[in-house]
Amino acid sequence: MSLATLNTGSSSVKFALYAEDGETRLMRGEIASIGGDAGLSVKRGDAKIERETLGELSHEEALKRALDILRHESPDPVRAVGHRIVHGGPDYDGAVRVDREVEARLDTLTPLAPSHQLHNLAGVKAARALFGKAAQIACFDTAFHRGQPFVSDTYALPRRFYEEGIRRYGFHGLSYDYLSARLCTLEGERRAVIAHLGSGVSMCAVNGRAPMGSTMGLTALDGLPMGRRCGQIDPGAVLHLMERYALSRKEVASLLYTESGLKGLSGLSNDMRKLENSDAPQAKEAIAYFVHRCRIEIAGLAAALQGLDTLVFSAGIGENSPAIRAQICEGLGWLGIELDADANREAGQEARISPPGSRVTVRVIATDEEAVIARQVAGVMG
Ligand code: ADP
Repeated sequence: MSLATLNTGSSSVKFALYAEDGETRLMRGEIASIGGDAGLSVKRGDAKIERETLGELSHEEALKRALDILRHESPDPVRAVGHRIVHGGPDYDGAVRVDREVEARLDTLTPLAPSHQLHNLAGVKAARALFGKAAQIACFDTAFHRGQPFVSDTYALPRRFYEEGIRRYGFHGLSYDYLSARLCTLEGERRAVIAHLGSGVSMCAVNGRAPMGSTMGLTALDGLPMGRRCGQIDPGAVLHLMERYALSRKEVASLLYTESGLKGLSGLSNDMRKLENSDAPQAKEAIAYFVHRCRIEIAGLAAALQGLDTLVFSAGIGENSPAIRAQICEGLGWLGIELDADANREAGQEARISPPGSRVTVRVIATDEEAVIARQVAGVMG
């Protein structure tokens, strides 16, 4: 029997197939740019990546295509499908089997993750329809953070709201699970800030494997500016925007979730590569704001850790942009952060990019959320 993983986002579906141990990956694939000019990439074992252009297709069609590939590629019946579910609320601090009751409870969290949760749950429904006998397992982005200290978990609202679930959940937990474990293997238990810089952007402070705080909160809007999301904003500004421009709840959500961030600030693109290649002053300003906020959050999380041993860069921007890594680190020499320019330029999937003997170790580590989902599914299936 094999295990499948499904990571259904707003513009991509990532999927993989594992042997029953949850460790041996048989293949992985991705359908990217859904809603635009979509493309499929598939990698089997150590073979070269195969690519195919798919053109315009809906989320449903992309999901169906991904699940068909999984069914076709699986050498045995699929025993369980592990799903990345962005929001697990206060109840889930680990993976669970999704029955109708769990699904209904996860559905109630949709307003807290409007650009993700519905797509995630659509993945569960589609996988259930196609793999009728397989268990559907939810693996949560919030679960990793559930053990964080109260001061990192709360807002200064009247206490009853905390009890009712208005908390700083934090996201990208599957990524932090993978990266903190990998870092412990490489260096042992360290006080580390892990920077997941992708289209969604967040950072997490860890002490070894223990979560100590993150930049995201109740929703995945807070903290750093992202491709299209605003990141930190004065809540008073949101109230003012609603009043002054007579924005409805829907309009203000669209503003904060899809029209802001790098895209909004540059007026050009949510894609960091395009901004890096642009000479427009607005592109440079958007990058400067991104870098400025990254430095501030690294320093803040280092304060939460009472010191910093290691800084890790990961995800699309963190793994692939030496220039952004350099700009962020340039402003943090006072924290003991230094870069080795050659190592930074040449870093591949995994590299130490600080010079030998520097006070803080800086690393690039490619993240692998699918590996964590597969391991969690194997754990639930026993
Ligand atoms: P997600 O998985 O959340 O969709 P990724 O982790 O793939 O996102 O990150 C997407 C981001 O990474 C985009 O902003 C993209 O521009 C950026 N990115 C990818 N490759 C590079 C690169 N070579 N240089 C700069 N940014 C890059």
